[in-house]
Amino acid sequence: MDAELAMNTLRNWIDESENIVFFGGAGVSTESGIPDFRGTGGLYNQQYKYPPETIVSRKFYVNNLDEFYDFYRNKMLFLSAKPNSAHIELARLEKIGKLKAVITQNIDGLHYEAGSKNVLEIHGSIHRNYCLRCHKCFDASYIMSFDGPPCCDECGGLVKPDVVLYGESLDQNVIDASIDAIEACDLLIVGGTSLTVYPANGFINYYKGNKLVLINKTPTDFDNKADLLIHDSIGKALTYKSDPM
Ligand code: NAD
Repeated sequence: MDAELAMNTLRNWIDESENIVFFGGAGVSTESGIPDFRGTGGLYNQQYKYPPETIVSRKFYVNNLDEFYDFYRNKMLFLSAKPNSAHIELARLEKIGKLKAVITQNIDGLHYEAGSKNVLEIHGSIHRNYCLRCHKCFDASYIMSFDGPPCCDECGGLVKPDVVLYGESLDQNVIDASIDAIEACDLLIVGGTSLTVYPANGFINYYKGNKLVLINKTPTDFDNKADLLIHDSIGKALTYKSDPM
């Protein structure tokens, strides 16, 4: 199907639906200037000593604190990034009662900043950071203020971002709420994700309807499951309006 026709169909499906769920990944925030992992400008296509997913793993964190925090601060903390048209449109759809949940693999907090309320951050958030010893909370700018691993200003313990590293478990309550939302929705829009990260890539299987929309710049292994496939920008697809005749 021609891209404009597909985007027009998406607009009609959104207009008709009263129970939309959006499930997204790093591609939702590339238009805010935050690099993804596997897209064309993504971190996999830049030269590092280790692949990004090796660095953001539990094993690497435990053994290479300095390198972890160096990468984390330089490549994952974009504190001046602002929500883009995709975040803003999803927040608008929630406000008018159509969209029931945003499920995101992103840790950047931009859906909340755009005004979305029911955001299921399955991989956590850069905006929550905890002392591993006394559990005192810190914001992301606190992590930024250190050169090396950040220490608690009360007890000196190591401060760790509340993001789920590879090899760590996800919060079961967030997973359950995500699955419930997907099972109940009539329109599932999946966007800006390569759908390669387990267990998030299994979420699509819980959808029971016949309006599964996949919006991604590059093909994924799930393209053949989509009822509507759009290989284009997520911001463009979500805000598309056909020209009046
Ligand atoms: P990914 O990097 O594996 O895939 C992103 C996909 O989005 C790619 O297929 C790319 O082609 C597509 N894409 C990029 N820009 C797009 C756009 N403007 N419109 C439509 N599609 C676009 O990302 P993933 O599937 O989310 O998995 C990576 C993991 O890394 C996740 O667990 C995520 O938590 C983490 N991560 C998060 C951020 C963030 O919080 N912003 C950034 C990088 C990585």
